Amino acid sequence: MYRSHNCGELRISDVGSEVKLSGWVQVGRDFGGLTFVDLRDRYGITQLVFNEEEDADLSAKARKLGREFVISATGKVRERSNKNPNRSTGDIEIEVSAMEVLNASKTPPFTIETETDGGEDLRMKYRYMDLRRPPVQENIIFRSSVAIQTRKYLAEQGFIEVETPVLIKSTPEGARDFVVPSRMNPGQFYALPQSPQTFKQILMVSGFDKYFQIVKCFRDEDLRADRQPEFTQIDCEMSFVTREDILNTFEGLTKNLFQTCLGRDLGNFPRMSYDEALERFGSDKPDLRFGMEFKELNEVAKGKGFPVFDSAELVVGICAEGQADNFSNKDIKKLTEWMQRPQIGAKGLVYVKVNGDGTFKSSVGKFYSDEDLQAWAEKFGAKAGDMIFVLSGETDKTRKQLNELRLEMGRRMGLMKEGDYKPLWVVDFPLLEWDEDSERFHAMHHPFTAPKKEDEERMLNGDHETMKALRADAYDLVINGVEIGGGSIRIHDRALQAKNFKLLGFSDEEAEAQFGFLMGAFEYGAPPHGGIAFGFDRLCAVLKGQYSIRDFIAFPKNNTGRDMMINTPSPIAGEQMEELYLESTAKDKEA
Ligand code: ASP
Repeated sequence: MYRSHNCGELRISDVGSEVKLSGWVQVGRDFGGLTFVDLRDRYGITQLVFNEEEDADLSAKARKLGREFVISATGKVRERSNKNPNRSTGDIEIEVSAMEVLNASKTPPFTIETETDGGEDLRMKYRYMDLRRPPVQENIIFRSSVAIQTRKYLAEQGFIEVETPVLIKSTPEGARDFVVPSRMNPGQFYALPQSPQTFKQILMVSGFDKYFQIVKCFRDEDLRADRQPEFTQIDCEMSFVTREDILNTFEGLTKNLFQTCLGRDLGNFPRMSYDEALERFGSDKPDLRFGMEFKELNEVAKGKGFPVFDSAELVVGICAEGQADNFSNKDIKKLTEWMQRPQIGAKGLVYVKVNGDGTFKSSVGKFYSDEDLQAWAEKFGAKAGDMIFVLSGETDKTRKQLNELRLEMGRRMGLMKEGDYKPLWVVDFPLLEWDEDSERFHAMHHPFTAPKKEDEERMLNGDHETMKALRADAYDLVINGVEIGGGSIRIHDRALQAKNFKLLGFSDEEAEAQFGFLMGAFEYGAPPHGGIAFGFDRLCAVLKGQYSIRDFIAFPKNNTGRDMMINTPSPIAGEQMEELYLESTAKDKEA
């Protein structure tokens, strides 16, 4: 037997018991005749005491223990004279009578503690040690409980978990595919799924009316800070449902997860159309923990002789409450420069400080009287001490830029409060996006998304301009400005699906070659269906009030898509390359 208890378990009520613990040496301290060792496992830390006077050999052995040695120790639980209120086991210690070193350890390259001195790369390389640190362990254990609860909830709702294949044919979800060469089919490749999208739709045709899977998805995207080439989704699909059924089911799941995993009641989720979200917040994933809503100023800012605004499609601003005194001329200059960085690309930034006595201080004071500016202030309901920021230009761009400023001000003003959760359904996305450069439409969600029922007819028969205005039966769940998931009602009719592929620039032959199986299935009794997928890693991070999904993945990849521990991607042997027809063989080269 290695242990009678774990290292987080013993309490004052256990005093007097004979116990055996096993774990890792966190730290050792010598005090003359006494040696203290903190023994750690995933449940906690227990203090071991070795007494020189009782057993000199054992004490000598204890003094030789290094950090991260794996040991087991037998002894009696006793009350500590010097209690540690910060530890669950802080009232007791173990008077050790026997100890065995189960395995020695080299000195770890960074400290295995809540706060570590190890840099990112080092911790990734020695992930097994990083995973011993309490905050990392806590996240992984939390993730497990969210997964188990998800399964439990969905199973109770009648969902069936079905595994779909990992070696498939490309599914366009807007990213590049990872591909796997087929040895048995020279020159041919599988693709790793960007999502199980087509398979889950096929399952609906097969009659499994409620499907889910907690599933790995793969997208070969340029890596941004919070992206992983492989990530996990809670993937779902349902038959004979409207948008309402799906939103209710997954609002139910989300509320249940917050309730069971955090003890938080989220209340009902508000809904907002895509258009409204852009108009009020300049983003299709607004952070609703704070207001600072956009107000359009065209009406009051144009036609007063300020050429920049006069020629702009949109003049729009936000009001930062009580911020006037926080911005000196220098601060405003700095913020303007921040807005002008290429990542945001604003041309300039206009401000108006509300003095409160009917006067204003503004960068465009030359063009606007106090009376004019009063009309602006009224749009925002601004009061003394408030700061108004205004941008102008082409509508889409200007809104995006102002969204960045709103978020920045939210951060500076401490409005993104930890522990505050503001969920939101964004609905009625456009079906198609026109891309000026490639002169073609892209699917805003994916090519299987249905237009809203009332737009079906226009989609089949309308002209080019009509297509730009089509609305999709698509929806996203957003929490605190983070997109948790999205989905849609699907097309289940061959003709409409064929039309959509055509709009997306597929020839009939291409559509048939890539998706003939799906369109074929639509001809054999496909029920109306729809679904959704949540980003599981992200959901876990948001639940925990954290930003990095990496901290919720046991073995994540770094910014360049590399697994630092196993050091991959890596070359494969020439022989393996040849077997996979990835390089001409030596013989071919000769010929
Ligand atoms: N397959 C979609 C995605 O991965 C989700 C869905 O439409 O259900 O985003």
